[in-house]
Amino acid sequence: MSLAGIRDRIAAAAREAGRPSGSVALIAVSKTQPEDRVVQILEAGHRVFGENRVQEAATRWPPLRERFDGIALHLIGPLQTNKARQAVEMAAAIHSLDRPKLATTLARLAQERGESPDLFVQVNTGEEPQKAGVLPVEADGFIAEARALDLPVVGLMCLPPVDEAPSLHFALLAKIAERNGLAGLSMGMSGDFEEAIAFGATHVRVGSAIFGARETAAPG
Ligand SMILES: *Cc1c(COP(=O)(O)O)cnc(C)c1O
Repeated sequence: MSLAGIRDRIAAAAREAGRPSGSVALIAVSKTQPEDRVVQILEAGHRVFGENRVQEAATRWPPLRERFDGIALHLIGPLQTNKARQAVEMAAAIHSLDRPKLATTLARLAQERGESPDLFVQVNTGEEPQKAGVLPVEADGFIAEARALDLPVVGLMCLPPVDEAPSLHFALLAKIAERNGLAGLSMGMSGDFEEAIAFGATHVRVGSAIFGARETAAPG
């Protein structure tokens, strides 16, 4: 468990890329981690966490929020429309906006509630059939569609194929973001966050490098 070590590596990677260290947010991905490890990270002062399942997050976080102030949850896993209400009630940000039906549902909830979590459009940069996200060629159109619904789209997210060099995917995501005037780039995990920072990541999602190996496998 090495939160401080990860923070140091993020700062070093940012410095090397000529970026201010505060330009990269660390999302500690706590999915499937035992409670005591999560509490240790909270006690170390960290407050930004990532979960990939609404159900798990809804069980885990309410009691922790009673004990610790200022927790911000980022939902990073695929989001079913029927979980959208629960998601917007708990999340500061959702990184998996990837289809029109979810966009219209989130827009309706935003209208009703007068607020919305920050949204990242997930792009399936590797065009993998089993993976969530809009295809790169559909990204511009979908981003425009989401913006037309007044949704607060702040950036893009990707999850590169496990068997490919991530740099091409990071570069592609950065290019799509730039041409759409989006500042946020949610990319980089335990194995490649430094590289992601070199390509402009503003949000890195780091799980096992902070918490240790997950005890049960969670689908990405
Ligand atoms: C699990 C997960 C991560 C963190 O993965 P690690 O390799 O443990 O850092 C990041 N992003 C998503 C979408 C995930 O599902």
